[in-house]
Amino acid sequence: MDCIFDKIIAGEIPSKKVYEDNFVFAFYDIHPIAPVHVLIIPKKHIESINDLEEGDVEIVGNMFLAAKKIAFDLGIAEKGYKLLVRTGRDGGQEVPHIHMHLLGGARLREDIGPVK
Ligand code: AMP
Repeated sequence: MDCIFDKIIAGEIPSKKVYEDNFVFAFYDIHPIAPVHVLIIPKKHIESINDLEEGDVEIVGNMFLAAKKIAFDLGIAEKGYKLLVRTGRDGGQEVPHIHMHLLGGARLREDIGPVK
């Protein structure tokens, strides 16, 4: 098991856990880019959105429900937040285990576009 996020789920690498259920694990990003920056990951090792299968629908749904629950728990639901899932090289994905960034706690700027 070489995946850093699998090791976080297993407790072999420490993390600041925010939420856990049968499908997902969530913890604070180690290099936050917003006042609230949480990563929501599936417990099943799935590298990226490109690797999702029909049978993973329940997992994906529960990632979104976890995002909603965490947003309410952390008090950012009403003002709003951003969910971001990077995929592959052009998407800027660094860790090959699907992760949803939950970003909030401030008005966030848009900076999506090609690298110049
Ligand atoms: P991405 O660029 O979408 O693949 O995002 C990977 C994210 O994982 C980055 O925001 C990193 O700061 C975060 N990250 C990497 N290692 C850890 C770790 N051990 N604990 C918490 N967050 C991590």
